[in-house]
This record gives sequence, C-alpha cells and structure tokens, in this order.
Amino acid sequence: MQLQYTKTLTSNGKPIKVHAISTGLVKVKEKYLNARFTGLLAAFDFMLSKKFTEWMPIWVWVIEHEEGVFVIDTGENAQINQKNYFKPAGWFANWFNTTQFKFEVSREQEIDQQLRNLGIEPQSVHQVILTHRHLDHVDGISYFEGVDILVHRIENEHPHGDLPHLYPNWFEPVLIDLDEPFHNFKKTKTLTKAGNLRIIHTPGHTKGHCSISLETDEGLLFFGGDVSYTQQQLLNNGHSGGDAEPKKSIETYQKLKALAKKTPLIYLPSHDSEAGERLMKMEFFFE
Ligand SMILES: [Zn+2]
Repeated sequence: MQLQYTKTLTSNGKPIKVHAISTGLVKVKEKYLNARFTGLLAAFDFMLSKKFTEWMPIWVWVIEHEEGVFVIDTGENAQINQKNYFKPAGWFANWFNTTQFKFEVSREQEIDQQLRNLGIEPQSVHQVILTHRHLDHVDGISYFEGVDILVHRIENEHPHGDLPHLYPNWFEPVLIDLDEPFHNFKKTKTLTKAGNLRIIHTPGHTKGHCSISLETDEGLLFFGGDVSYTQQQLLNNGHSGGDAEPKKSIETYQKLKALAKKTPLIYLPSHDSEAGERLMKMEFFFE
C-alpha cells in the first residue's frame, strides 16, 4: 500500500496542492468495521470476536492553499504501542484500546516528519482542522504547538470515546460554530477568504463529527473523516460498530449521496486504502 500521494489541482484558476499522508496503519475487528447491530449489542458482538481486518491507512490530508497550509487531522504516533500508553485512562480504556485495535506506526510516519519531507515546518501550518477527537485523528497534535487547531464546538462538548490524557497540556482548540448552509447541509462554515474550503457537520460517528470539503475546478474533494471507513461501506449503507448516533449516521449518508448526485464529488474517508489512488485519478463518487 502506497502511503503518500500528491495531487496538484486548481481552485478558482489558482494552483492548489493536496497531499494524502498515512501516519501508519490500523486494524480493527471485522465486526467493528462492518457491524451487524448498533449500540451495546454491536460492541459485545465485536469485542467477543477475534477476527481483524486487513491493515488500513490513517490518512492526514494536507492542503497547500494560497492562504496557507491546512492540515486535516493529525494521525497517529509511534508511542501508541508502548505498554503504558492507555493506562492513565483507566483499566477499561486500556483493555479496549489494546485489544480491539492494532496499530503499526514508525517514528518516520508521524505527521511532523512527513510534513518536513514536503518542505513544510509543522509550526508554520496555518490551521489544523480536526474531524473529531478519536485518538488516531488527534495523536499528532503535539507537533502543532502555537497553531490554531479548529474543533467543532459540539464535538468538543460531546466527545465520544476520546482520551484527554493524550492531549498536550497546552492544547486549547479554537471552537467553531457552524451556521452557514451548503447545498443540503445546514451546518457548515467557510474557512478561507476564497470560500473554497469548508467544514461541514456530518454527525453519526460522533455527535459533532465534521467533514471538510475543498472546491476545485476539477471537482469537490470531500474529506469524510470517519463518516464511513471506506467508500465501499458508504455504497453498501454499512456501518461500524463504533457509531455514537447510528440514526444520524444514516441521515449523513443520505445527504452525502444527494450532494454527490448534484456535484462531481471525490469521497476521501480517513481509513480507505483506495483513497490516495482515488485522489490521483479524481474518481467521482457514483451510487
Ligand atoms: Zn473515529
């Protein structure tokens, strides 16, 4: 699996570079990825099963925009496999995170080193945008001290399964309220003066979960976070066993599919092993 891709596009006629960077790999239980039930039943079902998925990427998306560098999520770090990594969170979180997921992350795969490989100093980044507060999306935060880290206010107030002991002590996210409509999504907000980068409330996986869209002259890039783990899962209307709000998740799928019917859209979720290739080929989502 290739873990780094760069695509040059244009937006309003101006060049814009998008990098897909995987900060290592993750495996989950098959019954977690494709759940047969929801809620507690789903949790028992996957916790009792033994079969893991194939390795999946942990994508961080980096956008070199004329208004600065934007980083979507921060990925995982190499300390995740240390014995005491989850201990401060209590016995259940420790047991859960060390038995239900497998991670493979080297120091070189962490976001700071991969940004430097692209000639970008982490602290020169304009904004980091978090889709939600799960560990494999926030575990690279420590490299962005002094950078504005944007989090949807609802995600901040209602985190689902986050692990606050992992945040650096200086971490104080910039909380954003979403009050602009965008197509059929009511809660969104533009992040650039050009109006082409937008944060969109896509609840389900967590209550405040957000996706990010980037309008380019070639199509709408839709960085879906964990709306679904893969594009195939969205096509199948499948759901993971970790959804905080399964009903909202179904609504989000419907809105996203309706948007993809109206406008050419490239769907890029955080753990889809084909997302990098899809970006390179600009493969549109079709149902
Ligand atoms: Zn997640």
